[in-house]
Amino acid sequence: MNARAHDLKVREVISETAEAVSLIFDIPTDLTHRFTYAPGQYLTLRIPSERTGSVARCYSLSSSPHCDDRPAITIKRTSDGYASNWLCDNVSVGDILTVLEPAGNFTPRTWNRDLLLCAAGSGITPIMSILKSALTLGRSNIALVYANRDRHSTIFASQLDQLARRHSRRLTLLHWFESDRGLPTARAIATLARPYRRHDVYLCGPTGFAIAVKQGLGQLRIPERSIHQEQYRSLTDNPFEHHTPVATEAAHTTPTADISTLRVDIDGRTHTLPWPKTKKLLDVLLDHGIDAPYVCRESACATCVCTVKHGRTHMLQNESLIPEELSQGLTLACQTLPDSPTLHIAFDE
Ligand SMILES: Cc1cc2nc3c(=O)[nH]c(=O)nc-3n(C[C@H](O)[C@H](O)[C@H](O)COP(=O)(O)OP(=O)(O)OC[C@H]3O[C@@H](n4cnc5c(N)ncnc54)[C@H](O)[C@@H]3O)c2cc1C
Repeated sequence: MNARAHDLKVREVISETAEAVSLIFDIPTDLTHRFTYAPGQYLTLRIPSERTGSVARCYSLSSSPHCDDRPAITIKRTSDGYASNWLCDNVSVGDILTVLEPAGNFTPRTWNRDLLLCAAGSGITPIMSILKSALTLGRSNIALVYANRDRHSTIFASQLDQLARRHSRRLTLLHWFESDRGLPTARAIATLARPYRRHDVYLCGPTGFAIAVKQGLGQLRIPERSIHQEQYRSLTDNPFEHHTPVATEAAHTTPTADISTLRVDIDGRTHTLPWPKTKKLLDVLLDHGIDAPYVCRESACATCVCTVKHGRTHMLQNESLIPEELSQGLTLACQTLPDSPTLHIAFDE
């Protein structure tokens, strides 16, 4: 089992709407440091299956580490979805779920900048964590554009009303109900967002909504670097399954044409390993029995992010890191191949 997987007890199950539940977890004292999280991060749950043994699914934390005592996730049923319906139908207070430690980089770096938050449906989950944190920690102004089918299907509707009343000078709540106005178009988003066009944008919602928001913000000439997006998808890999180390290459310390030499700092230790030119960094580490962090292995979750301290690399795919992060040397281990004979990579930063 993945060393970052832990059994957590469900302390509370809250029915948010007819289609969504929140699960609040108890964190045992010895795991407190492992479950310290940043607003916008997510947990990965192991969901049992008679068919495949288990599946893994990510759920953003809807709680804020700065306002809430315990971590909570919020799950909305996906039509015909396996895991979301299993969780909504089967989990009760006292149940134990196997959960990976928090991961993800959908988190504001500072709480002093004004925010434009855009969410639709279950996309409110990380946005709620960011919103509560920003209201508690900063003094900035925040606008939330939140699209739903109707008022009844709106997760956290009354909590948001309360926050808008309590922080009436700082928080502007802009509901969009499909039942009244149809699906939001790019033009409608541009109109709503115009007063907030200098704010940093955090966006989470279904593909159609995300496209409309990005087109609308494009019409306002909001630069892409100001737009941060969390994309939901189901994992195809299962990080709960044991990865058997299969290191076969001799422990080279001299690079060859096909094999680079890697020095890697991880979990307070330094390892020197051969890194074949065609093998992704994460696979090299796992094959050598090194417990590198990962969840999706598709470049989307950024759990395996690390820093290239020396040498050149390239990524096969990148759905998470923005140009600013790339220029700081960050890379995703699950997609990284070596381009120089010797490299130094660090995870512990
Ligand atoms: C970073 C991140 C954060 C997210 N945060 C949230 C959130 O806060 N809230 C939220 O609601 N969602 C969130 N999601 C989405 C969530 O992870 C799931 O994608 C979503 O719940 C749909 O999963 P599902 O299994 O219900 O549906 P699907 O993935 O559509 O399920 C169908 C799949 O399950 C398989 N399947 C069917 N039956 C079985 C079986 N018996 N055994 C094994 N497999 C079976 C099918 O073959 C099919 O592939 C997030 C995703 C990401 C990446």
